Amino acid sequence: MKVIPLGVNGAFTKYYHNNYVFELGERKLLVDAGTTLRYSLKEAGYEETDITDVIITHLHSDHVGGLEEFAQRCKWIHNHKPNLWVRGRMMDELEEVVGKGLFTDGLTLNDYFNVFTVECGFRNRFKIGVYAIELIETDDLHAKNMKSFGLNIESPNEENILFTSDIAKHEQAVFKHFVTYKTVALFHDVSIVRNPVHSYLEDVVNYYKDVIDLNKIYAMHYQDDINIEALEKQYGVHFVRPRKVYEF
Ligand SMILES: [Zn+2]
Repeated sequence: MKVIPLGVNGAFTKYYHNNYVFELGERKLLVDAGTTLRYSLKEAGYEETDITDVIITHLHSDHVGGLEEFAQRCKWIHNHKPNLWVRGRMMDELEEVVGKGLFTDGLTLNDYFNVFTVECGFRNRFKIGVYAIELIETDDLHAKNMKSFGLNIESPNEENILFTSDIAKHEQAVFKHFVTYKTVALFHDVSIVRNPVHSYLEDVVNYYKDVIDLNKIYAMHYQDDINIEALEKQYGVHFVRPRKVYEF
């Protein structure tokens, strides 16, 4: 599978938000749709029509602010209807966020997307192509009173990629338990300054270093214009680059 960061930075970046395309065989899964998506998707070489599946991990604007426009463009310009995988517990809130703009003239989310309701946990795994997707709950672990989740994406040969999305209290989440000798990458939210809603880089390194090779950690959602080469040297983790194709 291939992982392409459309952007890698935080909510207030002057660049692009931390949104991703996962190329899973023939399927192309968009993970999060921030307000910069209208530029970042094209700059990475994608059209809306390339995207077959969409997952929104939580409802901050750098993750969902571009979804309404994406949906409008898919429907009215391209007559394209992607799959939208929505965590059931977040459906009402998602509809509240995008519905004011989308639900005109009696339209519903189902007019823009093939909507699938899914839940967190092993028993609720679902397939995109041959890949098994599991939502990993992180409610209150990114921002208090916010529902959120990360992802475990597993190939048929049981290699997996973990993706935390935004998180602060990583030690209370269960991502560590998903790490096996077959884990190929852990995409983790990091901040290089202490921050109440994002994990601190040094804490992430110390927390995971016993269970995963540090060169399998891909730091994301970091501050603009930091010296990532120096930090990579210092900590031994990767900092993801926008539009670079990561193939696993
Ligand atoms: Zn967030």
